[in-house]
Amino acid sequence: MKTWRSAFASLMFIAGSALAADSQLVRFDLTDDVKSYLRQNELDVTGINYKTMEIEALLTPSELAELGARKTTIKFSFPRSLVLAPDGRYQTPDKIEDFVRATHARFPDITEIRVIGKTLEGREILALKISDNAATDELEPVVLVNAMHHAREVMTPEITTDMIEYLTTRYGQDTDVTRWVNNAEIWVIPMFNLDGNQKMWLEDSMWRKNTRGGFGVDLNRNYPTGWNSCNGSSGRQSAQDYRGTAPASEPETAAMMSFVAAIKPVFNISYHSYSEIVIYPFGCRPRRTPAEEAVEAIGAEIGKKLDYKPGTAWELLYNADGGDIDWMYTEHQVIPYVIEVNSTRDGFHPDYAKMRDKTVVRNRAGWMHLLTRLEGPSLQGAVTDGAFQTIKVSKAGESRVSQTYRINSDGTYYVILPSGVYDVTFEGKNTRRFERVTVDGVKTLRP
Ligand SMILES: [Zn+2]
Repeated sequence: MKTWRSAFASLMFIAGSALAADSQLVRFDLTDDVKSYLRQNELDVTGINYKTMEIEALLTPSELAELGARKTTIKFSFPRSLVLAPDGRYQTPDKIEDFVRATHARFPDITEIRVIGKTLEGREILALKISDNAATDELEPVVLVNAMHHAREVMTPEITTDMIEYLTTRYGQDTDVTRWVNNAEIWVIPMFNLDGNQKMWLEDSMWRKNTRGGFGVDLNRNYPTGWNSCNGSSGRQSAQDYRGTAPASEPETAAMMSFVAAIKPVFNISYHSYSEIVIYPFGCRPRRTPAEEAVEAIGAEIGKKLDYKPGTAWELLYNADGGDIDWMYTEHQVIPYVIEVNSTRDGFHPDYAKMRDKTVVRNRAGWMHLLTRLEGPSLQGAVTDGAFQTIKVSKAGESRVSQTYRINSDGTYYVILPSGVYDVTFEGKNTRRFERVTVDGVKTLRP
């Protein structure tokens, strides 16, 4: 552990090598005191490591000076020479667009491109659908995967492009892939925050937000659910988690929202870096927790497969409000996860040759788990006559309703459940239909 003064002196010699040369990465012991210090001062927390019990933040010179001057028991160090410059082999907005269009040209039957909206600077945000008969909506369950709400998290579009590559090139050969693609509609947004990423490459390797007004809005604090509700974001434009002037003020956020409303995913993964954690709703210390046991259970299963720690944001980090997964869960009953890839050893800008393949291969187990889980214990089907609007589920013999599922407007329903015996009631305005069912795989009910 260096003293603050000597570390600052040595810093002077390495600053300048990186674009974001003014700021310095600081590593703290992971304690509740440190977490509240970081949160109260709205510092830019970059990653957490539950294996070594450390947390890292990027501090500006004035924040560093404040930390150095305070009489404090907080322990910190400077973890390495600045690794703040991106490796030029990672994705750019242009490379992403070329990749998506080339993939569709190569696999026209099993892919479809949709422009879900435009960024503030007018870039088209692309989503690629992978499914058999991709041009048709076949009422199959939908899985959404997106990367890069945050511009500097350059590993995340590697995960999504690898997923696209894996599914398209193995279709018709690998039995799992063929079955997934035939039976589900898989939507991938390989890079979401295109403007921010462009700025990351050209101006500031530590850029996180979109490019609103030069200061930027944190797209993952801009969703309406819980917006500005639990000190889990900032009202200061300069803060890294600035939430914007209003819920969904940013065109990128609005584009994601209308896309999700249109496709109604069963599952979602939003990829971030870095921390090696799996996050599920809710971001705020609970006034409530997800009713569905499956949300936590599947999060834990993904965590186990990846050797990442599962939990809510407030359990693993601290309160976060206005995030995409809380909105998806609340408004569209998506079972959504944030997966933070890479560790404090890797940071935002790991060496491409050393870390890229290793990270994407390890993370396949995460999205594969959701595609496989679609085939697991659940109620799935479609009601045709519009007589029913909701499905209420309780454990057999219990009066308490554990889950109220809103049937999609196209009549489809996908209720993911742990294995068990359930009392299931389909409800419409003038009608109810009750059934006791054993759920140990996909169960289709036609009330
Ligand atoms: Zn992030």
